[in-house]
Amino acid sequence: MQPIGKKSIKFVQLKGNHREIGRQMGEACEGEVRHSIETARSLVEALSTELKIDWEMATIQAQKYSPYIREYYPQYLDELSGIAEGSQCSFADILTLNALEGIVMDRLHLGKCTSLAINQRMARKRNVLVAHNEDWFPDDEDDVYMIKAEVEDEPPFLAMNYGGLLPNIGFNKAGIAQCCDTVYPKEKRIGIPRAVVGRAVLGAKTIGEAIQRAISPHRAAGYNHLVAHESGELYNVEVSARNFAILYGEKGYLAHANHYLSAKMQSIEEEPEDLVGSHVRYNRALRMIKEKEDHDIASLQEIQRDHVNFPYSICCHATHLANPYEREKTICALVMDLNEKVIYLAWGNPCQNLYYPFCLE
Ligand SMILES: [Zn+2]
Repeated sequence: MQPIGKKSIKFVQLKGNHREIGRQMGEACEGEVRHSIETARSLVEALSTELKIDWEMATIQAQKYSPYIREYYPQYLDELSGIAEGSQCSFADILTLNALEGIVMDRLHLGKCTSLAINQRMARKRNVLVAHNEDWFPDDEDDVYMIKAEVEDEPPFLAMNYGGLLPNIGFNKAGIAQCCDTVYPKEKRIGIPRAVVGRAVLGAKTIGEAIQRAISPHRAAGYNHLVAHESGELYNVEVSARNFAILYGEKGYLAHANHYLSAKMQSIEEEPEDLVGSHVRYNRALRMIKEKEDHDIASLQEIQRDHVNFPYSICCHATHLANPYEREKTICALVMDLNEKVIYLAWGNPCQNLYYPFCLE
């Protein structure tokens, strides 16, 4: 089937200090920000009996995270304030959205996201390529946009984002790329929300600083941060609130889905029997990477469109379920070329939509 191109995705260019870029993002994406809050609010309300929490209680809970952001990353608290100002939403709602995984989502146990990376050893043009399928609630697909940001004290970056979240998935001019994959540790705490830690990684100037930021002190929980550098250094940094494991891509490739790969982190994984779908996606992606040593943008896109184990495939289509909070799909897929400094993004499922290039320079 020939992919159908959607209308072109919003591309927002931001420049200034942290508060200013937040405000510009909020202004340019006011509709997307508001819609993402409404989606999150209706999800929490629909589950209020089960989760024993409503949106108002979630906003009160979210405030407890704020002092930790202020202490360690005040610049990103400024960005959150700016997003609220620009979109004319309340700061409480924006903060709640960015802390929501810790407050609510961990209890839902959805699949979510497949990431992979290859370096010169596996690439036809000897480029370093990083790919990510963002699997999330179908309602948030409309809220996806691209950002180019020049922040006063950080390398300029190019990122995919949606709604009122801080940007996490992209790369910067220092050659650092990041993809985030949800993981499910038993341990978590009130601290710096994952979305803020992810934003901090995107501002790193070196690969060491990126890894250091992924394991920031007083983090609330953790993602797997797939961190890559244009030199070909590839890492999976598996994180929880108090533990982490650093896995190096010594063979020239890496993949990750939503279960821990290191034995240390597996020992603190919550309900691993719920994560079979993640194992299937991970193994499938890894096999498709290993089958050839001359990968390019197109071959990674082919992996992103894979339908083995449909609808819980790498290209995820699990939209048929009765419970709205169990529905998920690939809301966008991107391939980053760290040497050419380009992101190719397909908005929606990559099996149905064309990839469009976005350049940092
Ligand atoms: Zn598909």
